[in-house]
Amino acid sequence: MLLGGIEAGGTKMVCAVGDENGNLLDRASFPTREPKETFEDLLNYFKKYEIEALGIGCFGPIDLNRNSKTYGYITKTPKLAWADTDFVGVFKKELNVPVGFDTDVNGAVLGEVTWGAAKGLDSAIYITIGTGVGVGVYLNGGLLHGLVHPEGGHIILARHPKDTYEGKCPFHKNCMEGMAAGPAIEARWGKKGYELADRPEVWEMEAYYIGQAIADYIVTYSPEKVILWGGVMHQEQLFDMVRKETVRQLAGYVHHDAILKDIDNYIVAPGLGDDPGIKGAIRLGYLELNR
Ligand code: ADP
Ligand code: ZN
Repeated sequence: MLLGGIEAGGTKMVCAVGDENGNLLDRASFPTREPKETFEDLLNYFKKYEIEALGIGCFGPIDLNRNSKTYGYITKTPKLAWADTDFVGVFKKELNVPVGFDTDVNGAVLGEVTWGAAKGLDSAIYITIGTGVGVGVYLNGGLLHGLVHPEGGHIILARHPKDTYEGKCPFHKNCMEGMAAGPAIEARWGKKGYELADRPEVWEMEAYYIGQAIADYIVTYSPEKVILWGGVMHQEQLFDMVRKETVRQLAGYVHHDAILKDIDNYIVAPGLGDDPGIKGAIRLGYLELNR
């Protein structure tokens, strides 16, 4: 069975064809331009294949309410050319196949639950810390949507006692994204993350915010696995610091061996390397076909 997937990002669109077992047979990447040009690139790519369904993991905010007139749209994104853009409808019409649709991070957590580090589990979260922070949530065997979709990158965090930086988020200042995403690190320390590798105070503060956020996600979502990735997590020393900080912030309140005895296997990098997003998109297509 041939399935298509799109990982739709603000800077690039990754697309691939693969099978129902998560094997990728081909992939390509196109810069994100205006919707019309970008859709042309993507449609030309998929028209070379006989896919049975397409899945899209998309930057947001997006409309996931199947009863809404604007279901399958990108809604009020700051990337203005893309605001109020029908994504699903265009591909359904042009490719004439079922089109699955979800957030990029929900796609990624789905990929990890299906084939990666959370394989077979009923619940997991996927946190990406890059240009922004996004959190995909899989709970009770399904992706969480609710009113809109989770926006775990924007939980408000307590400041580190030594942090004088006000925060980068234009809405909240000191939310997770405002304090811990790549641009916040750069604004706080005056250099990009990868130029700060040898400054322990940078990563101690970073781990404080990430650990605090994960502790918040644990007490609210109660995931069986926490998967952590994105450009900032390429500082691999952060993993251990974040694990310790998460345990410290939970302060013994969530009394489970996964946290108290086996945190190394609880907070982990993706099992699918750099592919959870695109493989998850393929899985979204598969699920839509079998809906
Ligand atoms: P995006 O979020 O745009 O999809 P990434 O996940 O690659 O892309 O995140 C980009 C952010 O991650 C940038 O702010 C960049 O400075 C930061 N970053 C990338 N590599 C590293 C690294 N090795 N160490 C620290 N920060 C990094
Ligand atoms: Zn915010």
